[in-house]
Amino acid sequence: MKALVWHGVGDVRVDTVPDPELLNPNDAIVKISATAICGSDLHLLDGYQPSMVKGDILGHEPMGEVVEVGSSVKTLKPGDRVVVPFVIACGQCFYCRKGLYAACDNTNPNAGMAALAMGYSPAGLLGFSHLLGGYAGGQAEYLRVPFADVGPQRIESDLPDEQVLFLSDIFPTGYMAAENAEIEEGDTVAVWGCGPVGQFAIQSAWMMGAGRVYVGLLDKLPFGAAMNKGLTLKMGQTHVQRYMGDLLGKIESGEIDPSFVVTHRAPLSDAPELYKTFRDKKDGCIKVVLNP
Ligand SMILES: [Zn+2]
Ligand SMILES: [Zn+2]
Repeated sequence: MKALVWHGVGDVRVDTVPDPELLNPNDAIVKISATAICGSDLHLLDGYQPSMVKGDILGHEPMGEVVEVGSSVKTLKPGDRVVVPFVIACGQCFYCRKGLYAACDNTNPNAGMAALAMGYSPAGLLGFSHLLGGYAGGQAEYLRVPFADVGPQRIESDLPDEQVLFLSDIFPTGYMAAENAEIEEGDTVAVWGCGPVGQFAIQSAWMMGAGRVYVGLLDKLPFGAAMNKGLTLKMGQTHVQRYMGDLLGKIESGEIDPSFVVTHRAPLSDAPELYKTFRDKKDGCIKVVLNP
């Protein structure tokens, strides 16, 4: 198959690589119909996140059609159309049972390495370096999805890919940020950063009843002001699985059309050029959808 492969700092190419295969009974194989480039991919491209290895396949915002399932997969079957969350979660551990999927204890086989670097390991993540499991990503024609019963969101309506694709990451990510802010009806809300995730934080704030939303393009958090105003800081990797169903409902009801965030559409073969365009555009206000 064709896939976007990391060759070294600043060097990604579309290569022909072996198709993924079922490795475990809970795996599924998905034929990718649409997949996006994320700002986080630039951190991997440029080597800001250590532990990328030549040959790694990038991409953590994919969707497509299930073409094969392992023997223990119960909720998916070939032919299902799914959006795949970037967080890989077991569904069984202490954290998963509390809905804290991004803190899953069981899906990062390199948890010790992540703990050394960050103090504690998050869940394994698709297409996100060996520190986070070394899982091949979804900027490819096919993707192996581990723990396929915990996460992939079936799409039964005929909504186009662009309206549902961002359930894989940035819509839940912006939504969780707004939820963390405990917005009440009429509140004034400030959002720092207005790239694609910021855009979804803004839209989510409106959906939660914000009266006013200010966008700041600062790259620093005002810690002094936060302390002096007695603010609480909340942070976290997105518990994508927790939000996908509810947010799909908001898309299906017409409350939001996430495709407003798309700026570029291209075939997978153009991905290396688009990575360069993205990196050169410093404000981050770009969202590329690739169709393998
Ligand atoms: Zn992302
Ligand atoms: Zn878990």
